[in-house]
Amino acid sequence: MSEEQTIVNVYGANWCSDCRRTKKYLGEQRIHYGWFDIEKPDVEGEKALQFVYDTNEAIFGTKKRKIPAVEVIKDGERKLFVEPSNFELADFLGLAKRAKKSFYHTVIIGAGPAGLTAAIYLARDGYDVLVIEQSTVGGQAFITNRLDNFPGFPEGITGANFAENVKKQAERFGVEILSPQKVLNVGTCHPNASFDECQYKVVKTESQEFTCSAVLVATGSNYRQLVVPGSDALLGVSIHYCATCDGFFYKNRKIFVIGGGNSAFEESLFLKGKFADHVTILVRGNEPRASPVLQEKVRDRSGIEVWANSKVVELLGEDSLEAVRVKHTETGEVKDYHPDGIFVFVGLSPNTKFLKGVNLDSQGFITTSQQQSSVQGIFAAGDCRFGSVKQAVAAAGEGAAAAIAIREYLSNS
Ligand code: NAP
Repeated sequence: MSEEQTIVNVYGANWCSDCRRTKKYLGEQRIHYGWFDIEKPDVEGEKALQFVYDTNEAIFGTKKRKIPAVEVIKDGERKLFVEPSNFELADFLGLAKRAKKSFYHTVIIGAGPAGLTAAIYLARDGYDVLVIEQSTVGGQAFITNRLDNFPGFPEGITGANFAENVKKQAERFGVEILSPQKVLNVGTCHPNASFDECQYKVVKTESQEFTCSAVLVATGSNYRQLVVPGSDALLGVSIHYCATCDGFFYKNRKIFVIGGGNSAFEESLFLKGKFADHVTILVRGNEPRASPVLQEKVRDRSGIEVWANSKVVELLGEDSLEAVRVKHTETGEVKDYHPDGIFVFVGLSPNTKFLKGVNLDSQGFITTSQQQSSVQGIFAAGDCRFGSVKQAVAAAGEGAAAAIAIREYLSNS
Protein backbone atom coordinates (compact mmCIF):
# COMPACT_ATOMS: atom_id res chain seq x y z
CA MET A 1 0.00 0.00 0.00
CA SER A 2 1.52 3.33 -0.90
CA GLU A 3 1.54 6.07 1.70
CA GLU A 4 0.61 8.71 -0.92
CA GLN A 5 -2.72 6.99 -1.38
CA THR A 6 -3.54 6.30 2.24
CA ILE A 7 -3.86 8.72 5.13
CA VAL A 8 -4.90 7.54 8.59
CA ASN A 9 -5.49 9.93 11.49
CA VAL A 10 -6.34 8.73 14.99
CA TYR A 11 -7.89 11.13 17.52
CA GLY A 12 -7.93 10.06 21.15
CA ALA A 13 -6.12 10.08 24.47
CA ASN A 14 -3.09 8.21 25.80
CA TRP A 15 -5.00 6.45 28.59
CA CYS A 16 -7.69 5.10 26.22
CA SER A 17 -7.26 1.36 25.67
CA ASP A 18 -9.27 1.33 22.41
CA CYS A 19 -6.97 4.07 21.11
CA ARG A 20 -3.94 1.97 22.07
CA ARG A 21 -5.50 -1.08 20.39
CA THR A 22 -6.11 0.86 17.17
CA LYS A 23 -2.60 2.34 17.13
CA LYS A 24 -1.10 -1.07 17.91
CA TYR A 25 -3.01 -2.63 15.03
CA LEU A 26 -1.93 0.09 12.60
CA GLY A 27 1.67 -0.23 13.86
CA GLU A 28 1.61 -4.02 13.40
CA GLN A 29 0.40 -3.46 9.83
CA ARG A 30 3.16 -0.84 9.30
CA ILE A 31 0.62 1.81 8.42
CA HIS A 32 1.81 5.33 9.08
CA TYR A 33 -0.79 7.27 11.05
CA GLY A 34 -1.22 10.71 12.55
CA TRP A 35 -1.90 10.82 16.29
CA PHE A 36 -3.94 13.70 17.70
CA ASP A 37 -4.16 13.86 21.48
CA ILE A 38 -7.41 15.46 22.69
CA GLU A 39 -5.79 16.14 26.08
CA LYS A 40 -3.02 18.37 24.71
CA PRO A 41 -3.39 21.65 26.61
CA ASP A 42 -3.15 23.88 23.55
CA VAL A 43 -5.00 24.81 20.41
CA GLU A 44 -4.07 21.49 18.75
CA GLY A 45 -5.70 19.58 21.62
CA GLU A 46 -8.82 21.75 21.29
CA LYS A 47 -8.96 21.07 17.55
CA ALA A 48 -8.54 17.34 18.13
CA LEU A 49 -11.39 17.31 20.67
CA GLN A 50 -13.58 19.26 18.24
CA PHE A 51 -12.82 16.66 15.57
CA VAL A 52 -13.98 13.94 17.98
CA TYR A 53 -17.24 15.80 18.67
CA ASP A 54 -17.86 16.41 14.95
CA THR A 55 -17.12 12.82 13.98
CA ASN A 56 -19.41 11.45 16.69
CA GLU A 57 -22.11 13.82 15.52
CA ALA A 58 -21.65 12.76 11.89
CA ILE A 59 -21.95 9.07 12.85
CA PHE A 60 -24.42 9.05 15.77
CA GLY A 61 -26.29 12.30 15.17
CA THR A 62 -25.36 13.56 18.67
CA LYS A 63 -22.33 15.27 20.12
CA LYS A 64 -20.60 12.37 21.89
CA ARG A 65 -16.97 12.10 22.98
CA LYS A 66 -16.37 8.47 22.08
CA ILE A 67 -12.77 7.79 21.14
CA PRO A 68 -10.84 6.91 19.12
CA ALA A 69 -12.27 8.81 16.20
CA VAL A 70 -10.43 7.68 13.07
CA GLU A 71 -10.22 9.29 9.65
CA VAL A 72 -9.04 7.17 6.73
CA ILE A 73 -8.47 8.48 3.21
CA LYS A 74 -7.73 5.72 0.73
CA ASP A 75 -7.67 6.06 -3.04
CA GLY A 76 -9.45 9.38 -2.71
CA GLU A 77 -12.28 7.96 -0.56
CA ARG A 78 -12.63 9.42 2.96
CA LYS A 79 -14.24 7.39 5.73
CA LEU A 80 -14.80 8.28 9.36
CA PHE A 81 -14.97 5.77 12.21
CA VAL A 82 -15.64 5.94 15.93
CA GLU A 83 -14.23 3.10 18.06
CA PRO A 84 -13.73 0.95 14.93
CA SER A 85 -12.97 -2.74 15.34
CA ASN A 86 -9.66 -3.83 13.84
CA PHE A 87 -11.64 -5.76 11.25
CA GLU A 88 -13.54 -2.63 10.15
CA LEU A 89 -10.23 -0.85 9.60
CA ALA A 90 -8.62 -3.88 7.95
CA ASP A 91 -11.59 -4.22 5.63
CA PHE A 92 -11.52 -0.58 4.50
CA LEU A 93 -7.74 -0.64 4.17
CA GLY A 94 -7.85 -3.86 2.12
CA LEU A 95 -5.82 -5.76 4.74
CA ALA A 96 -8.24 -8.48 5.75
CA LYS A 97 -6.08 -11.63 6.19
CA ARG A 98 -6.66 -15.16 4.95
CA ALA A 99 -5.66 -18.37 6.73
CA LYS A 100 -3.13 -20.69 5.07
CA LYS A 101 -5.18 -23.89 5.13
CA SER A 102 -8.79 -24.90 4.85
CA PHE A 103 -8.61 -27.82 7.33
CA TYR A 104 -7.27 -27.70 10.89
CA HIS A 105 -7.32 -30.35 13.60
CA THR A 106 -8.68 -27.69 15.93
CA VAL A 107 -10.12 -24.24 15.37
CA ILE A 108 -10.03 -22.09 18.49
CA ILE A 109 -12.37 -19.12 18.61
CA GLY A 110 -10.96 -16.35 20.78
CA ALA A 111 -7.36 -15.36 21.48
CA GLY A 112 -7.55 -14.60 25.19
CA PRO A 113 -5.63 -16.51 27.88
CA ALA A 114 -7.93 -19.58 27.52
CA GLY A 115 -7.71 -19.85 23.71
CA LEU A 116 -4.00 -19.17 23.44
CA THR A 117 -3.06 -21.57 26.24
CA ALA A 118 -5.05 -24.35 24.55
CA ALA A 119 -3.39 -23.44 21.25
CA ILE A 120 0.10 -23.69 22.77
CA TYR A 121 -0.66 -27.12 24.24
CA LEU A 122 -2.17 -28.53 21.04
CA ALA A 123 0.39 -27.07 18.62
CA ARG A 124 3.20 -28.31 20.85
CA ASP A 125 1.67 -31.80 20.47
CA GLY A 126 1.90 -31.45 16.68
CA TYR A 127 -1.72 -30.61 15.82
CA ASP A 128 -2.64 -27.98 13.23
CA VAL A 129 -4.29 -25.17 15.15
CA LEU A 130 -6.01 -22.04 13.90
CA VAL A 131 -6.98 -19.33 16.37
CA ILE A 132 -9.59 -16.85 15.14
CA GLU A 133 -9.91 -13.56 17.00
CA GLN A 134 -12.40 -10.82 16.14
CA SER A 135 -10.57 -7.97 17.81
CA THR A 136 -7.31 -7.99 19.71
CA VAL A 137 -5.09 -10.87 20.70
CA GLY A 138 -5.12 -11.08 24.51
CA GLY A 139 -8.87 -10.64 25.04
CA GLN A 140 -10.04 -8.86 28.22
CA ALA A 141 -6.54 -9.33 29.66
CA PHE A 142 -5.22 -7.04 26.91
CA ILE A 143 -7.45 -4.14 27.94
CA THR A 144 -6.67 -4.62 31.63
CA ASN A 145 -4.34 -1.89 32.76
CA ARG A 146 -2.18 -4.22 34.81
CA LEU A 147 -2.31 -7.92 35.68
CA ASP A 148 -1.12 -8.11 39.28
CA ASN A 149 -2.31 -11.57 40.25
CA PHE A 150 -0.99 -13.75 37.40
CA PRO A 151 1.78 -15.92 38.91
CA GLY A 152 5.23 -15.45 37.42
CA PHE A 153 5.26 -11.66 37.20
CA PRO A 154 6.51 -10.38 40.57
CA GLU A 155 6.06 -6.75 39.55
CA GLY A 156 2.80 -7.38 37.66
CA ILE A 157 2.61 -6.96 33.88
CA THR A 158 0.62 -4.69 31.60
CA GLY A 159 -2.24 -6.39 29.76
CA ALA A 160 -0.66 -5.41 26.43
CA ASN A 161 2.76 -6.95 27.27
CA PHE A 162 1.12 -10.07 28.64
CA ALA A 163 -0.88 -10.51 25.41
CA GLU A 164 2.23 -9.97 23.28
CA ASN A 165 4.20 -12.58 25.26
CA VAL A 166 1.50 -15.25 24.98
CA LYS A 167 1.04 -14.54 21.26
CA LYS A 168 4.79 -14.93 20.62
CA GLN A 169 4.83 -18.16 22.60
CA ALA A 170 1.91 -19.57 20.57
CA GLU A 171 3.53 -18.56 17.28
CA ARG A 172 6.79 -20.24 18.34
CA PHE A 173 4.89 -23.55 18.28
CA GLY A 174 3.37 -22.84 14.85
CA VAL A 175 -0.08 -21.66 15.92
CA GLU A 176 -1.74 -19.66 13.16
CA ILE A 177 -3.69 -16.63 14.38
CA LEU A 178 -6.31 -15.11 12.10
CA SER A 179 -7.15 -11.63 13.32
CA PRO A 180 -9.23 -9.55 13.04
CA GLN A 181 -11.92 -11.98 11.86
CA LYS A 182 -15.35 -12.65 13.28
CA VAL A 183 -16.77 -16.17 13.39
CA LEU A 184 -20.33 -16.13 12.10
CA ASN A 185 -21.24 -19.71 12.94
CA VAL A 186 -20.07 -23.21 13.70
CA GLY A 187 -22.01 -25.65 11.57
CA THR A 188 -22.34 -29.25 10.54
CA CYS A 189 -20.75 -30.96 7.52
CA HIS A 190 -23.99 -30.65 5.57
CA PRO A 191 -26.91 -28.24 6.08
CA ASN A 192 -29.31 -31.14 6.71
CA ALA A 193 -26.97 -33.18 8.90
CA SER A 194 -26.77 -33.11 12.68
CA PHE A 195 -23.46 -32.75 14.52
CA ASP A 196 -23.66 -36.44 15.46
CA GLU A 197 -23.73 -37.44 11.79
CA CYS A 198 -20.60 -35.43 10.90
CA GLN A 199 -16.97 -36.24 11.42
CA TYR A 200 -15.98 -32.64 10.99
CA LYS A 201 -17.34 -29.21 11.75
CA VAL A 202 -17.49 -26.12 9.56
CA VAL A 203 -16.42 -22.77 10.99
CA LYS A 204 -17.52 -19.79 8.92
CA THR A 205 -16.00 -16.32 9.24
CA GLU A 206 -16.73 -13.07 7.41
CA SER A 207 -14.39 -14.07 4.58
CA GLN A 208 -13.52 -17.78 4.82
CA GLU A 209 -14.79 -21.22 5.75
CA PHE A 210 -12.76 -23.90 7.55
CA THR A 211 -13.34 -27.52 8.32
CA CYS A 212 -11.93 -29.02 11.51
CA SER A 213 -12.24 -32.02 13.79
CA ALA A 214 -12.64 -30.05 17.02
CA VAL A 215 -13.68 -26.54 17.96
CA LEU A 216 -12.78 -24.72 21.16
CA VAL A 217 -14.98 -21.76 22.03
CA ALA A 218 -12.97 -19.35 24.17
CA THR A 219 -14.73 -16.13 23.27
CA GLY A 220 -14.89 -14.62 26.77
CA SER A 221 -17.52 -12.13 27.79
CA ASN A 222 -18.34 -8.43 27.73
CA TYR A 223 -19.77 -6.04 30.29
CA ARG A 224 -23.54 -6.43 30.67
CA GLN A 225 -25.57 -3.32 29.86
CA LEU A 226 -27.75 -1.38 32.26
CA VAL A 227 -31.18 -1.24 30.67
CA VAL A 228 -33.52 1.31 32.29
CA PRO A 229 -35.71 4.03 30.76
CA GLY A 230 -33.42 6.74 29.42
CA SER A 231 -30.25 4.61 29.28
CA ASP A 232 -30.11 4.31 25.47
CA ALA A 233 -30.01 8.05 24.83
CA LEU A 234 -27.13 8.62 27.23
CA LEU A 235 -24.87 5.72 26.26
CA GLY A 236 -21.36 7.06 25.60
CA VAL A 237 -22.44 10.57 26.69
CA SER A 238 -22.92 10.09 30.43
CA ILE A 239 -23.08 6.29 30.77
CA HIS A 240 -19.83 4.41 30.45
CA TYR A 241 -18.59 0.84 30.64
CA CYS A 242 -14.83 1.40 30.54
CA ALA A 243 -13.10 3.32 33.32
CA THR A 244 -9.71 3.50 31.59
CA CYS A 245 -11.32 4.72 28.36
CA ASP A 246 -13.70 7.36 29.71
CA GLY A 247 -12.52 8.19 33.22
CA PHE A 248 -10.59 11.22 31.97
CA PHE A 249 -13.84 13.06 31.22
CA TYR A 250 -14.58 13.06 34.95
CA LYS A 251 -11.48 14.77 36.30
CA ASN A 252 -12.52 16.38 39.61
CA ARG A 253 -16.18 15.46 39.00
CA LYS A 254 -18.73 13.40 40.91
CA ILE A 255 -19.74 10.03 39.53
CA PHE A 256 -21.99 7.08 40.31
CA VAL A 257 -20.73 3.53 39.83
CA ILE A 258 -23.50 0.94 39.44
CA GLY A 259 -22.87 -2.63 40.63
CA GLY A 260 -21.69 -4.42 43.74
CA GLY A 261 -19.17 -6.92 42.36
CA ASN A 262 -15.38 -6.94 42.12
CA SER A 263 -15.42 -4.91 38.89
CA ALA A 264 -17.49 -2.09 40.40
CA PHE A 265 -15.25 -1.88 43.47
CA GLU A 266 -11.97 -2.21 41.59
CA GLU A 267 -12.93 0.36 38.95
CA SER A 268 -14.23 2.76 41.63
CA LEU A 269 -10.81 2.70 43.28
CA PHE A 270 -9.20 3.38 39.92
CA LEU A 271 -11.63 6.20 39.04
CA LYS A 272 -11.25 7.87 42.43
CA GLY A 273 -7.46 7.44 42.36
CA LYS A 274 -6.96 8.91 38.88
CA PHE A 275 -9.84 11.18 38.03
CA ALA A 276 -13.01 11.63 40.05
CA ASP A 277 -13.46 13.88 43.04
CA HIS A 278 -16.15 11.66 44.51
CA VAL A 279 -17.51 8.20 43.71
CA THR A 280 -20.78 6.74 44.98
CA ILE A 281 -21.20 3.00 44.45
CA LEU A 282 -24.85 1.95 44.11
CA VAL A 283 -25.48 -1.65 45.17
CA ARG A 284 -28.98 -2.90 44.47
CA GLY A 285 -28.96 -5.66 47.12
CA ASN A 286 -28.45 -5.64 50.87
CA GLU A 287 -24.73 -5.96 50.55
CA PRO A 288 -22.04 -6.00 47.88
CA ARG A 289 -20.67 -9.16 46.30
CA ALA A 290 -17.15 -7.75 45.99
CA SER A 291 -14.36 -9.58 47.85
CA PRO A 292 -13.71 -8.54 51.47
CA VAL A 293 -10.28 -7.20 50.47
CA LEU A 294 -11.76 -4.85 47.87
CA GLN A 295 -14.55 -3.79 50.21
CA GLU A 296 -11.97 -2.92 52.84
CA LYS A 297 -9.90 -0.93 50.34
CA VAL A 298 -12.99 1.05 49.38
CA ARG A 299 -13.90 1.64 53.04
CA ASP A 300 -10.39 2.96 53.67
CA ARG A 301 -10.42 5.36 50.72
CA SER A 302 -11.90 8.78 51.38
CA GLY A 303 -14.14 10.11 48.64
CA ILE A 304 -15.86 6.78 47.91
CA GLU A 305 -19.12 5.81 49.53
CA VAL A 306 -21.29 2.74 49.10
CA TRP A 307 -25.08 2.86 49.11
CA ALA A 308 -26.81 -0.49 49.59
CA ASN A 309 -30.43 -1.22 48.57
CA SER A 310 -30.15 1.42 45.85
CA LYS A 311 -31.54 0.54 42.45
CA VAL A 312 -31.36 2.83 39.43
CA VAL A 313 -34.83 2.93 37.91
CA GLU A 314 -34.52 5.73 35.35
CA LEU A 315 -32.05 8.15 33.80
CA LEU A 316 -33.24 11.62 32.93
CA GLY A 317 -31.79 13.86 30.22
CA GLU A 318 -31.29 13.57 26.47
CA ASP A 319 -28.05 15.28 25.47
CA SER A 320 -26.55 15.02 28.93
CA LEU A 321 -27.42 13.45 32.23
CA GLU A 322 -29.83 15.56 34.24
CA ALA A 323 -30.68 13.13 37.02
CA VAL A 324 -30.42 9.53 38.14
CA ARG A 325 -33.66 8.23 39.65
CA VAL A 326 -32.88 5.78 42.43
CA LYS A 327 -35.30 3.58 44.34
CA HIS A 328 -34.48 2.45 47.86
CA THR A 329 -35.38 -1.23 47.65
CA GLU A 330 -36.36 -1.54 51.34
CA THR A 331 -38.31 1.67 51.91
CA GLY A 332 -39.55 2.06 48.34
CA GLU A 333 -38.56 5.74 48.41
CA VAL A 334 -37.62 7.17 44.99
CA LYS A 335 -35.20 10.12 44.78
CA ASP A 336 -33.34 11.99 42.04
CA TYR A 337 -29.57 12.57 42.24
CA HIS A 338 -27.28 14.64 40.05
CA PRO A 339 -23.87 13.05 39.43
CA ASP A 340 -21.85 14.19 36.41
CA GLY A 341 -21.72 10.69 34.95
CA ILE A 342 -22.31 6.98 35.51
CA PHE A 343 -20.04 3.97 35.15
CA VAL A 344 -21.78 0.60 34.97
CA PHE A 345 -20.29 -2.74 36.11
CA VAL A 346 -23.23 -5.08 36.54
CA GLY A 347 -21.73 -8.38 35.49
CA LEU A 348 -20.72 -10.10 32.32
CA SER A 349 -22.51 -11.31 29.25
CA PRO A 350 -20.84 -14.18 27.29
CA ASN A 351 -19.93 -13.82 23.62
CA THR A 352 -21.85 -16.89 22.47
CA LYS A 353 -24.67 -15.48 20.31
CA PHE A 354 -23.18 -17.01 17.15
CA LEU A 355 -23.43 -20.57 18.55
CA LYS A 356 -26.39 -22.67 17.46
CA GLY A 357 -27.22 -26.19 18.62
CA VAL A 358 -24.99 -25.98 21.70
CA ASN A 359 -26.61 -25.94 25.16
CA LEU A 360 -26.32 -22.60 26.97
CA ASP A 361 -27.61 -21.51 30.37
CA SER A 362 -30.25 -18.79 30.69
CA GLN A 363 -27.55 -16.07 30.51
CA GLY A 364 -25.88 -17.58 27.42
CA PHE A 365 -22.91 -19.25 29.14
CA ILE A 366 -21.89 -22.61 27.60
CA THR A 367 -22.63 -25.58 29.82
CA THR A 368 -19.90 -28.21 29.77
CA SER A 369 -18.78 -31.50 31.16
CA GLN A 370 -14.99 -31.78 31.37
CA GLN A 371 -14.72 -28.77 29.05
CA GLN A 372 -16.90 -30.41 26.36
CA SER A 373 -20.19 -28.76 25.43
CA SER A 374 -23.42 -30.63 24.72
CA VAL A 375 -22.03 -31.26 21.20
CA GLN A 376 -19.26 -33.83 20.83
CA GLY A 377 -16.13 -32.13 19.55
CA ILE A 378 -17.16 -28.59 20.56
CA PHE A 379 -15.36 -27.54 23.72
CA ALA A 380 -15.44 -24.38 25.83
CA ALA A 381 -12.96 -22.69 28.13
CA GLY A 382 -12.70 -19.43 30.06
CA ASP A 383 -15.20 -16.66 30.74
CA CYS A 384 -17.80 -17.84 28.19
CA ARG A 385 -18.20 -21.16 30.04
CA PHE A 386 -20.86 -21.64 32.70
CA GLY A 387 -19.20 -21.92 36.09
CA SER A 388 -15.91 -20.23 35.15
CA VAL A 389 -14.46 -17.93 37.80
CA LYS A 390 -13.62 -15.07 35.39
CA GLN A 391 -9.94 -14.78 36.19
CA ALA A 392 -7.15 -14.64 33.59
CA VAL A 393 -5.15 -17.33 35.35
CA ALA A 394 -8.19 -19.62 35.66
CA ALA A 395 -8.96 -19.07 31.96
CA ALA A 396 -5.41 -20.17 31.10
CA GLY A 397 -5.88 -23.26 33.29
CA GLU A 398 -9.16 -24.04 31.57
CA GLY A 399 -7.40 -23.67 28.22
CA ALA A 400 -4.89 -26.33 29.26
CA ALA A 401 -7.68 -28.65 30.50
CA ALA A 402 -9.60 -28.15 27.25
CA ALA A 403 -6.48 -28.95 25.19
CA ILE A 404 -6.05 -32.23 27.06
CA ALA A 405 -9.73 -33.12 26.51
CA ILE A 406 -9.40 -32.19 22.80
CA ARG A 407 -6.25 -34.30 22.44
CA GLU A 408 -8.20 -37.26 23.82
CA TYR A 409 -11.11 -36.51 21.44
CA LEU A 410 -8.81 -36.22 18.41
CA SER A 411 -7.06 -39.48 19.18
CA ASN A 412 -10.43 -41.28 19.21
CA SER A 413 -12.02 -39.62 16.18
P1 NAP B 1 -20.55 -9.82 39.23
O1 NAP B 1 -19.59 -10.40 40.18
O2 NAP B 1 -21.49 -10.72 38.51
O3 NAP B 1 -21.37 -8.71 40.01
C1 NAP B 1 -22.38 -7.98 39.35
C2 NAP B 1 -22.94 -6.96 40.30
O4 NAP B 1 -23.84 -6.12 39.58
C3 NAP B 1 -23.72 -7.56 41.46
O5 NAP B 1 -23.52 -6.77 42.59
C4 NAP B 1 -25.16 -7.47 40.97
O6 NAP B 1 -26.10 -7.34 42.00
C5 NAP B 1 -25.11 -6.16 40.21
N1 NAP B 1 -26.14 -6.06 39.20
C6 NAP B 1 -26.49 -6.95 38.24
N2 NAP B 1 -27.45 -6.44 37.45
C7 NAP B 1 -27.73 -5.21 37.93
C8 NAP B 1 -28.63 -4.18 37.56
N3 NAP B 1 -29.45 -4.33 36.52
N4 NAP B 1 -28.64 -3.04 38.27
C9 NAP B 1 -27.81 -2.88 39.34
N5 NAP B 1 -26.93 -3.81 39.74
C10 NAP B 1 -26.90 -4.96 39.05
O7 NAP B 1 -19.82 -9.00 38.04
P2 NAP B 1 -18.39 -8.29 37.94
O8 NAP B 1 -18.11 -7.46 39.11
O9 NAP B 1 -18.36 -7.68 36.59
O10 NAP B 1 -17.37 -9.49 37.96
C11 NAP B 1 -17.49 -10.53 36.99
C12 NAP B 1 -16.51 -11.64 37.35
O11 NAP B 1 -15.16 -11.17 37.20
C13 NAP B 1 -16.65 -12.09 38.82
O12 NAP B 1 -16.46 -13.48 38.86
C14 NAP B 1 -15.52 -11.37 39.51
O13 NAP B 1 -15.05 -12.03 40.66
C15 NAP B 1 -14.45 -11.32 38.42
N6 NAP B 1 -13.56 -10.16 38.63
C16 NAP B 1 -12.47 -10.36 39.42
C17 NAP B 1 -11.62 -9.31 39.69
C18 NAP B 1 -10.39 -9.54 40.55
O14 NAP B 1 -10.20 -10.66 40.98
N7 NAP B 1 -9.58 -8.55 40.84
C19 NAP B 1 -11.87 -8.04 39.17
C20 NAP B 1 -13.02 -7.86 38.40
C21 NAP B 1 -13.86 -8.94 38.15
P3 NAP B 1 -26.69 -8.62 42.78
O15 NAP B 1 -25.60 -9.06 43.74
O16 NAP B 1 -27.90 -8.06 43.46
O17 NAP B 1 -27.01 -9.63 41.73
